[in-house]
Amino acid sequence: MSPRQAESLAETFAEFRPRMVEGTLTDFSRLSSPNAPCCQVAPRKADTVARIVRLANERDVPLRIRAQGHSLNGSSLPGSAELLLATRNLRLVRFEEPGTVTVGSGVVLWILQYFLRRYGFDLPVLNDGYPGPSVGGFVCAGGFGPRSVVFGGFWDNVVELRFVDGLGNLRRATCADPLFPWLFGSMGQLGVFIDAKLAIIPRDGSGVPSYPAGASLMAPQLVAPKVPPEFATEGEERLFWFTLFTPDEYLDDAHRELSALERRHNATLRFQQRYRYPILHRGMTAPLVYPYARPFTATGAWGWLIDGSPDGIAALHEFDREFMALAASKPHYRRYVQSELPSGPEIYRLCFGEQNYGALRNHKAELDPNSLLNRGTVFA
Ligand SMILES: Cc1cc2nc3c(=O)[nH]c(=O)nc-3n(C[C@H](O)[C@H](O)[C@H](O)COP(=O)(O)OP(=O)(O)OC[C@H]3O[C@@H](n4cnc5c(N)ncnc54)[C@H](O)[C@@H]3O)c2cc1C
Repeated sequence: MSPRQAESLAETFAEFRPRMVEGTLTDFSRLSSPNAPCCQVAPRKADTVARIVRLANERDVPLRIRAQGHSLNGSSLPGSAELLLATRNLRLVRFEEPGTVTVGSGVVLWILQYFLRRYGFDLPVLNDGYPGPSVGGFVCAGGFGPRSVVFGGFWDNVVELRFVDGLGNLRRATCADPLFPWLFGSMGQLGVFIDAKLAIIPRDGSGVPSYPAGASLMAPQLVAPKVPPEFATEGEERLFWFTLFTPDEYLDDAHRELSALERRHNATLRFQQRYRYPILHRGMTAPLVYPYARPFTATGAWGWLIDGSPDGIAALHEFDREFMALAASKPHYRRYVQSELPSGPEIYRLCFGEQNYGALRNHKAELDPNSLLNRGTVFA
């Protein structure tokens, strides 16, 4: 965006104390937004988010929602003339109802887990690796982790979500609401998540901890995560992963096909040992993640990009295309596209399937009829 456009947005949204972001914003893939400078607001409360969205509607200003920028597909990067809505100040943590914790969408999951453990509790499902994804970002991707084998997907462990829709209405969806499963993997298309009431469990070896009813805290922001050696980057290295969801009976087939794909592309990525996260089916299906009511396993290829030159990037995209073809080759395979490199309407249509893509579009038409939120990422 031109400096003049950014200043004009800053004037329009002056009451929300906007800030100019002068430097280039990037995400985990090191895709960067060409639209520097940009104008950013970082509200602290639900009603402020609602007022921002209402004003954006009045002025027809598209909004780009950004949390930790740990996605790979550019969907957290502002496009031309977009106002950047950062969720990093939505960090309130409250103990309101035994068995749950209510958490601002900007809280980083690993930071939340750290505090819960001090109270003798734990999160059943959170990302593997190291601190990065926020609560809101995890919902937007779908969410699974090492303990999904016991506790299912993130969708099985969220009791309630509050969000501001694209018209500026504050809404609440409980796990009994038909809309609820569609919010997982929805990539910020249906609303700005404000907070989530999450199920918690006693920490291993804690017996039955006493619930700190009424306690609250402001979780700190993630500054510089301590990255474990297996993820540590050197210089210009970049890490990419390609996750395939498959029922267990097809896991061996999937591994054979993935190994063949890796062999063909071993000059592109330095592949790492294959991962495998079984995901229990606990009764709820998140159609944008895996549309079948059954357990499945997340497996896939991951590795370091060997050559970051334009030729190396072209080779990476070729690998991605072949991985996409593999994921589309069997009706029971699905790709975890929300957390990966490719994006754009045709990609989501292919990965979600025509019917679920259409259903998401219908929800979007109701909740964000002016297509203000994350415009162009999932729908044209
Ligand atoms: C090191 C690493 C490990 C990972 N491990 C796992 C794993 O084990 N399991 C797993 O499921 N995923 C994993 N992921 C993927 C990760 O969960 C997703 O990429 C997630 O979306 C990143 O969250 P974020 O807070 O960085 O969101 P961002 O990258 O900032 O945003 C991602 C998308 O969500 C939207 N969004 C973010 N917050 C909100 C909100 N409050 N309201 C509405 N829209 C919002 C953004 O607009 C954007 O479209 C991992 C990623 C990394 C980098």
